[in-house]
Amino acid sequence: MRYALNDKKEKIEVSFSGELAVCEICKANVKGRKGEQRIKHWYHYKNKRTDCDDWHEPISEWHLTWQNLFPVKNREVTLVKNGISHRADILLDNGLVIEVQNSPLKLMEVEKRERFYGRNNLIWILNGDTLAKNSMLKKELFTYRYMLTISIPKSFVYVEDYDFRALMEEVSKSNEIAYLKSEENLYELINENTMTFKFLDNQIENFYLFEVQYRYYIACVYETRYGQTGLEKFRNQIAIEYGSIRETIMEIKLIKKYWKKFVDTMEFPVFIDNLQGMEENELYYYSENRTISKEKFMDHYLKYT
Ligand SMILES: [Zn+2]
Repeated sequence: MRYALNDKKEKIEVSFSGELAVCEICKANVKGRKGEQRIKHWYHYKNKRTDCDDWHEPISEWHLTWQNLFPVKNREVTLVKNGISHRADILLDNGLVIEVQNSPLKLMEVEKRERFYGRNNLIWILNGDTLAKNSMLKKELFTYRYMLTISIPKSFVYVEDYDFRALMEEVSKSNEIAYLKSEENLYELINENTMTFKFLDNQIENFYLFEVQYRYYIACVYETRYGQTGLEKFRNQIAIEYGSIRETIMEIKLIKKYWKKFVDTMEFPVFIDNLQGMEENELYYYSENRTISKEKFMDHYLKYT
């Protein structure tokens, strides 16, 4: 661990090898180690176990770099929940924990930590250098040539409790729509009642047939919800359009190689640092497949220190 308490209960770093201090969690004496090989750290020297916090991992340069972007009081902070203590890499004043992860985790560990810190209280920053070494980010330009638009009416007087949002949600979950949301197609929901799909090439050979079928599918969703009332009118008010466009869009794609499975079990936001193909001042926001500048990231989180 990076910090221990001195006799004034102040958080201190190791200043020389053999220095004594107290572990904030278990109150045991810890010794400082400062050598050439490893980064200076405190270690528990009385018990055989290396650390009282079984979540600890060796400090790396990369850890320090991230921690040092935050004030000392926010670095390596002990959190106690239900009598269990863990040291969070970074704890912000609003309760958000930033875990800076340099080494792989067991699948069970991910869940344990997410449960311990709680929903909306944890984000992960992974070191791409150690955890996604062979993967890389590819920025590619795609030219979309066809666009499909499907809209349902926003208001519909023939049923009393017409709720276009709920209806749209059900429609978008149907198999027929899921089929259109393939990886190559660009999907967008506009004004909550319009779905657009952009295609790289022509995907609808017979639009007339397509339109009839999709009108029918969507009307079925309506019927399940509202019955026969207004069904015919609803079907006629569904708007489906298809045409050619020319739109070039820069897309980010993560090419995974020897991908570590534990990353995909993380339910909380995951950011990856040091990924191949990325600028040095960028972070890859894995959960949302986009890059974000570190500056922007810090601007956001430093507000809570
Ligand atoms: Zn301890």
